[in-house]
Amino acid sequence: MSSDSESVQAEVDHFMKGLIRRNPGEPEFHQAVRDVVESLMPVVLDNERYRQEEILERMTEPDRVVIFRVTWEDDQGRFRANRASRVQFNNAIGPYKGGLRFHPSVTLSVLKFLGFEQVFKNSLTGLPMGGAKGGANFNPKGKSDHEVMRFCHSLMIELHRHIGEDTDVPAGDIGVGAREIGYMFGQYKRLENRVTGMLTGKGLAFGGSHVRTEATGYGCVYFARHMLGEQGESLEDKRVAISGSGNVALYAAQKLIEYGAKVVTLSDSSGFIHAPDGLTPEQWDFVREVKEKRRGRVSELADKFKEIEYHDGQRPWRVPCDIAMPCATQNEIEKEDAEALVKNGVRAVCEGANMPTNTEGVQVFQKAGILFAPGKAANAGGVAVSGLEQSQNSLRLSWSAEEVDEKLQGIMKRIHAQCVEHGRKGDRIDYVNGANVGGFIRVAEAMCAYGAV
Ligand code: GLU
Repeated sequence: MSSDSESVQAEVDHFMKGLIRRNPGEPEFHQAVRDVVESLMPVVLDNERYRQEEILERMTEPDRVVIFRVTWEDDQGRFRANRASRVQFNNAIGPYKGGLRFHPSVTLSVLKFLGFEQVFKNSLTGLPMGGAKGGANFNPKGKSDHEVMRFCHSLMIELHRHIGEDTDVPAGDIGVGAREIGYMFGQYKRLENRVTGMLTGKGLAFGGSHVRTEATGYGCVYFARHMLGEQGESLEDKRVAISGSGNVALYAAQKLIEYGAKVVTLSDSSGFIHAPDGLTPEQWDFVREVKEKRRGRVSELADKFKEIEYHDGQRPWRVPCDIAMPCATQNEIEKEDAEALVKNGVRAVCEGANMPTNTEGVQVFQKAGILFAPGKAANAGGVAVSGLEQSQNSLRLSWSAEEVDEKLQGIMKRIHAQCVEHGRKGDRIDYVNGANVGGFIRVAEAMCAYGAV
C-alpha cells in the first residue's frame, strides 16, 4: 500500500468506527456503508467543500425513520402483531422512492442498508428520485390471500400519512408484488379519497406501467450485455447461473434465453435446479406458471422434466458457469461460494439482488479480475421503470410496452456508461467504484446547493 492509500484507509476506518458507534447492532447497514465509503473517501478528501460540509456523515444518516406496529387478524380469529418501518433516507434529488419488503428477516439494519443503497441506485438512473426503503417482519409464505389483505390494509392505515406522489413513493420488493400493491393501493385510495401515483408496481388496470414486472430482470441482462460488450464479448452461448425465482430471476432468465444464453440454474429457499444444457422456453413458461400463478417451488421443474436435476438445501454456486446472476437476497454469495465460482471459471458477476455478495466475496472476485457489477447499478432497471410509472401517472398517460422497454434500455446503457466513466482504472473497469462515485455526485451537489439542511 502506498502512504496515500494508507491514509485513505485510515480515514475510512475512522469514519466506520464512528458510524458503528452511532448505529450499533446493524451489520448489514455497516457493510453497505463501508462498501460506499471505500469508494468515496478519495473523492471526498480531494474536495474541500465535501469535507467541510460533512457530506459523508450527512449522507449516512437517514432523513427520518418511522417505526410502527401493524395489528391484523388471522383466519382463526387470532390477533397478530408485526413491526413495520419506513426509512426515508435522502430526498435531495427527488421524492423518496424504494420498495417495501415483507420477510421474517427484515430488521432496521436491513432496511437502512437497502434505503442507503437506493439513494445511489436511484441517482444513477438519472431520474428525479430520492432513496427510501420499508417493510415488515411479516412472512407472507403460507398466509391466505385474506390474511395478506388484512395485513396490507392495516399497514396502510399508518403508512398513508407518510407517503404521497410528491413525498415518498413505495413499491414492491421481496414478498411484495402485484397482489400486495393492489391491497395497499386500494386502502390508500379509501383513506385519502385520492387516486394518484403514490405507489408503483400497480396493476395495469389502475395506473401500472408495462414492463414494470420484467424491468429488474431485463435491466440486469441489458447491463450484463454492455459489460461484456465493453470486453468485445456477447451473451450468446454463455452459461448463466441464476439464484432466486422471483420476478428478478424469472425475467432475467427470459431475456437471457432470448439472447441465446444458457440459463443453467434457478433456486428458492428450499434448493436449486440444475439444467446443464440451459432451460428451454417451454421450461421457462412452466416455471413462471409455477411461481407466479401457484406460488409453488422450483423443484417442480425437476419433477416434470427428467433432464433437470434438483439439489435440496443448496445454493447454485458450485455449478460451472460463465456468468453468475445472484437474484435472490443479500449475502447469498459468501467467500467460499465466490472461490468456487472463480475456480469453475466464472468470468462475470452481475447482481440482480441488493448486496447479494458479501464483502469477502467481492474481494475474491476483484482479486481474480472478474467483471463484477454491483446491484446498485445492475438492478436499477426496476426502480427506473418505477420512475417511468410515476411519469406516466403524472401525465395521466400510458406508454406502450415497446416505448417503456426502449427507455429502460437507454437508462441501463447510461448507467453502464457512468460506471465506465467513474470506474476506469488503467485498462480495467472497477464497476463498484464507478457505481458508487457515479451515484454520489448528483446527490452531493444537490445537498451542497441546499446549505445546512
Ligand atoms: N425494490 C426495488 C429495488 O430494490 C424497486 C424499488 C422501486 O421500484 O421503487 O430497487
